[in-house]
Amino acid sequence: MTRTGSPPWRIRRLRPAHPFCGTRAGQAIIFFALALVILVFVVIWTYDLHRILYTKSITQNAGDASALMAARWQGITLNMIGDLNIMHAIALTSDDANTAATITNIQARLCFVGPMIALMACQEAAKNNGMYRNPDFDAFMHEHAQHVRNGYGSMTDDDGSPLFPEPYEGCWADYADMLDLVADEGMAAGPDNLRLYTDYVGGHYLLMIEFYEAIAGKTWCWFCNNAPTLLEDYENFQPCWWPPLPEIPHMEYVNSEVFSLRLSKCETTLSSLLDLPTINSNAAERGFTTIVDSNAMAATAAWYCYNTEAWGPWNAMATTGPDPFPLTGPVKDTYDYAGADVAVRIEASTTRLTPAQEGASITNVITWSAGAKPFGYLGDADKPTRYGLVLPAFRETHLVPIDAVSGPSGGGYNLEWRRHIEQHLPGYMRNGPQPSSCWYCQQLLTWENSAFRQDGIDWLAVNSWQCTMTTPGPGSYDGGGRRRGH
Ligand SMILES: [Zn+2]
Repeated sequence: MTRTGSPPWRIRRLRPAHPFCGTRAGQAIIFFALALVILVFVVIWTYDLHRILYTKSITQNAGDASALMAARWQGITLNMIGDLNIMHAIALTSDDANTAATITNIQARLCFVGPMIALMACQEAAKNNGMYRNPDFDAFMHEHAQHVRNGYGSMTDDDGSPLFPEPYEGCWADYADMLDLVADEGMAAGPDNLRLYTDYVGGHYLLMIEFYEAIAGKTWCWFCNNAPTLLEDYENFQPCWWPPLPEIPHMEYVNSEVFSLRLSKCETTLSSLLDLPTINSNAAERGFTTIVDSNAMAATAAWYCYNTEAWGPWNAMATTGPDPFPLTGPVKDTYDYAGADVAVRIEASTTRLTPAQEGASITNVITWSAGAKPFGYLGDADKPTRYGLVLPAFRETHLVPIDAVSGPSGGGYNLEWRRHIEQHLPGYMRNGPQPSSCWYCQQLLTWENSAFRQDGIDWLAVNSWQCTMTTPGPGSYDGGGRRRGH
């Protein structure tokens, strides 16, 4: 059979079945294109989310590993200093003054070298866990090493005595070399409880990072709990309303600025610290065969002891008092001391594929701070600090809440905060708040606005009852809140 003329199917194909059929096809294409665009955005967004979560996870791992490693070296160093205390007693038993003096010198060096090894080891731990060197961290460390080398040794007070006497001869040069070495190798982890000898030690609202955070977040409860009259009292800046920034205290420089062991050097007799059977049982436990005698106990010598202020009760973890830590129960007595600890800061940036306005790319900086601490015990279950004298007692290392770690007012390794304290605050105290790209300076501008402060006064007049925590848990802080890391 032969077809003649145009087949009907061809006619149907050429002739639109409906006057709007062409528009419908166009609509389908537009719809399809839109769906495709949405799909592409969903894919990019999922990729970005995954990337951010991944970066967060590796910063967390690297931070935790790094803090544990540094705290482990703190524990090892404390044990070595403890062993040297025992050896010092043995040297005094043998009446060997030279050895005794050498031991004291080695202990003075260990207070710096031990924390420096901790700093190096924590960089390795961070890098082994996927972090890269942070050029800002390196630059700050080099800058500080320069200051130690050129400044600490030469600064004197009005009567010409050195402001920073060296704990042992050549200490500042050694210390600066070690800091440079760490920075040369590349820093991935910032020692976040760094306390420079030139840092303020608090005692002023302008030196409290929480003050700025309370302004930024309108955390009025912070004012209610920590500065109850400040909102009402503050009037305006000119002439400078604030009391002057406190003097930076000078002290005996026994400990390193980084990962300080927080020890003191005590000129006293061993018998004022512990009795003969105790030192001998500790000596035997560490494998020393010579027995310490009573002459060594009665001799006055330099002993490395726990600084009683720094190694007191672990108040940051107290479950009672005005700012209780939300723990399910109190810290066990054996672990209830503050003392040497580590805070490490990891910063990693991740660039998003999702474009921002006008096609600019967005980079997020992800920060993780981790805290860790060496723990141990003497005898069966006595605190390592029981006798005041450092003895080899540290056996384990644990991660601890970052808020329970010793924190400096000077800025640790939060370099933006440090810049604010060191470079911007002196100008603020002279001239008042000025527009600035610094986040902390911007908060001081907000603070200057009396309507802003009035908002806080009005809020607290009605809601201040919410600022008292009745049951532990973050739910009690509606509209208020306080600083608890993670
Ligand atoms: Zn600033």
